[in-house]
Amino acid sequence: MAVIEKQTTTRFDKIEITPDNFREIGYALVDQIAELFRQMPERPVAAATPDGAIREMVGAISSDDGQEAGHLLKQTTKMLFDHSLFNGHPKFWGYITSSPSPIGVLGDLLASAVNPNAGAYVLSPVATEIEKQTVDWIARFMGYPAGGGLLVSGGNMANFVGFQAALRAATGAETRQTGLRNLDSELALYCSAATHTWIQKAADLYGLGTDSIRWIATDKNTRINPDLLEQKIQEDLAAGCRPFLVIGTAGSVGFGAVDPLDALAEICKKYKLWFHIDGAYGGLAAALPEQKTSFAGFEAADSVAVDPHKWLYAPLEAGCTLVKNPRHLTDTFSYHPPYYNFDHSRLNFMDYGPQNSRGFRALKVWLSAQHLGMNGHRQLIREDIDLARYTYELLEKEPDLEACSNNLSITTFRYVPQELRLRIGDPEIGNYLNKLNQAILNRLETEGVFFMSNAVLENKFVLRMCIVNFRTTKADIDALPEYIRTLGQQVHSELKG
Ligand SMILES: *Cc1c(COP(=O)(O)O)cnc(C)c1O
Repeated sequence: MAVIEKQTTTRFDKIEITPDNFREIGYALVDQIAELFRQMPERPVAAATPDGAIREMVGAISSDDGQEAGHLLKQTTKMLFDHSLFNGHPKFWGYITSSPSPIGVLGDLLASAVNPNAGAYVLSPVATEIEKQTVDWIARFMGYPAGGGLLVSGGNMANFVGFQAALRAATGAETRQTGLRNLDSELALYCSAATHTWIQKAADLYGLGTDSIRWIATDKNTRINPDLLEQKIQEDLAAGCRPFLVIGTAGSVGFGAVDPLDALAEICKKYKLWFHIDGAYGGLAAALPEQKTSFAGFEAADSVAVDPHKWLYAPLEAGCTLVKNPRHLTDTFSYHPPYYNFDHSRLNFMDYGPQNSRGFRALKVWLSAQHLGMNGHRQLIREDIDLARYTYELLEKEPDLEACSNNLSITTFRYVPQELRLRIGDPEIGNYLNKLNQAILNRLETEGVFFMSNAVLENKFVLRMCIVNFRTTKADIDALPEYIRTLGQQVHSELKG
């Protein structure tokens, strides 16, 4: 007894950093972060540290005994700043990973200090209302008539939630107990061949298997062909399959193409299929009046996935699922176990999605919405699109660069040495150009001046820039052609030799 009493009267108290100490080391950390933001344009976009050196550096760190917090944070800050890839750098245009808004960075700190559990209203009254408002603001921004929604970790999760709601709506409440084993026909779903890989994970995760995916061919702009879609649905119906879901992509991951959503909406209506839009990247561009025609039909979707951590500049992670009718989410996700004393007349976000405990993801998005105003967000999206267009036009003027595509804020191109320009259609030259441009991309990754990724367009390996970056300016882009030309010449002569 005496031993236990001794242990519990004085706790191991190292976890509690005193308020004075917290202030001191917190200020120091904020100073360093502010300095990082200030220096960002002058730093390399990616550090050239080899994988092995990073592994060794991290591997040498031990966690057996504790250490002083201020020193620990200082060391860690230095390590991260010296060896990271910075998607907040003005010349970072890779994949679809945005620069983090500074207000969002502070928002994450504030969210974790209050640390509400946004799974249940009773645990997070303010946070729940803020999340609800954030979801409303996002929906209204895009002109999508949502009845509800919630924040999740990202685009994949946001799409999974829509997928599962579609599956429940199609198969009925009893599949909660029985699963899919009693269905008398094979379920089928439809999406373009340019759909992001979340669809394979979802089909597998929910027990349908990737064979249930009908990949519909696209036009040369990588937009789904609605005629082929309808044909495939009819074939499946004739064969006794059960179509249940059509996915439209609003901003394809490779090229930023927006499917003909109105045509898809028509088909879904005709065949009574769930219409889900994957707008993880491009959905937010529906907020621009000048994009209205290409997004016609957007409002018809039963569910939409968008990523605040892409075009709303929220630091990772923040995705969002919106649905027309929130009943579809509660039918899918709500259970009321006896160990939760939650008032079901209140909004408990655990009833709307797969997560139980939930962080306060909404705060960073909500703060940014007010800091910039949603009109400010509109302006930033528009500027990114204009810069990508500007890049395309700039590249078109270059004799040894081939501008290949431009949609939303994605522009693709490749380096073509002048001596090969006239033989571009020759398959052997085509293969060589693919090899050359891949080698250029690999060099870009290690040189740390520009960061881009790639895409494949009609068997062409192309360099792909995606501007979801509020720090990028025309001057950053103006420096690109000369850099690629010089690098291209170098790599070309190395490959030749
Ligand atoms: C980014 C993206 C996804 C995946 O989103 P994550 O946030 O990376 O999980 C899905 N679909 C499209 C079209 C995307 O651009």
